[in-house]
Amino acid sequence: MVTVVKPHKTRICIDPKDLNRAVKREHYPMRTVEEIMPHLPGAKIFTVLDAESGFWQIKLDQESSKLCTFNTPYGRYRFTRLPFGVKSAPEVFQRTMSQLLEGLTGAECIVDDVLVWGIDVPQHDERLYAVLNRIQSSGLKLNRSKCKLRMTEVSYVGHLLTKDGLKPDPEKFDETEFDVNFISQLPLTSSRVETFKLATADDPQLPQLKSVILIGWSLDRKDVPACVQDFWNIRDELAVVGDLVFKGNKLVVPRALQAEMLEKIHEAHLGITKCKQRARDVLFWIGMNKHIEDFVSQCTICNENKKSRGGRYPEIVKLTDWSSKTTITALKSVFARHGIPDEIMTDNGPQFSSTEFRRFSQAWEFTHRHQAQRIHNRMVKLKDQYRLSR
Ligand SMILES: [Zn+2]
Repeated sequence: MVTVVKPHKTRICIDPKDLNRAVKREHYPMRTVEEIMPHLPGAKIFTVLDAESGFWQIKLDQESSKLCTFNTPYGRYRFTRLPFGVKSAPEVFQRTMSQLLEGLTGAECIVDDVLVWGIDVPQHDERLYAVLNRIQSSGLKLNRSKCKLRMTEVSYVGHLLTKDGLKPDPEKFDETEFDVNFISQLPLTSSRVETFKLATADDPQLPQLKSVILIGWSLDRKDVPACVQDFWNIRDELAVVGDLVFKGNKLVVPRALQAEMLEKIHEAHLGITKCKQRARDVLFWIGMNKHIEDFVSQCTICNENKKSRGGRYPEIVKLTDWSSKTTITALKSVFARHGIPDEIMTDNGPQFSSTEFRRFSQAWEFTHRHQAQRIHNRMVKLKDQYRLSR
């Protein structure tokens, strides 16, 4: 259990690992904007309504409430409303919202965002009143500051709905990449995708991570369920697509499949650098690079290959100038042939000390060390060895 005390309010989150192991997820389909689009012919005017504190608006029955009991120094308490972190929460929420809106025309819902649309203002307003009446009589509360009323363009679950149809939301450009086709581009067969979905649902972290991604991250790391905090620094890159979690265009691998993925990555005995490179194009899990290093460094075949590869040779690139830009371009072409290194050593040249170069090392995820003396010694040797004049 995590207690978060803020001025004037205390927020309690449970970390219901054991409960989640027992909870069977509902097979209530989570919808995507693409699925909703065909239901919106001729839509020109839009409203998005935001349900306040999402899950907490859902009351638990006595039996479920008892399962959400937690201990505190002051005794045992139980949630009477759906707490954050129960793995079936997003589906339960989606189902409740869909039932609430059942029979109303021009109203759609994805988790806690209700979309109302019309072909013109009068039709839109009529539908909106009907939706608001229904919501009011249900007791569901809306967050007024997050509602967007009677717009010709509105951002909805990572997409921009306009009178001309769906456009990528410039604010959430990355999310538009994650359409359903995206999953089919993974190097996985459809039965493997199913295995990934099942393992994701049973993972100790990912179901809660998905809930957080779908309802939105808190402003403060401390307010996030403990098991999800590991993902805090990369939260902006995470998305849920068809039951799977993605970091950018990389699939987040559930814990149960990490060992198997390691085997796969290492199948061809490419050595640590190539393995990491191969993996980081398509897969992600926290600590993946370290796991690959540990795993591959124990492989006798890879170690043998490394020794026998021997024949180290220098690769020399002629630069037109000494700017960071030119140097970086040259390095990129070397990396393209040999793989991205884990570490780069340079002398203290200004082209290596620039912000531009630092950004490059961060983006390409290699460590950069200034080792002027070692570089100098090595250059002397090389010049000697290859009879270089300069
Ligand atoms: Zn190997």
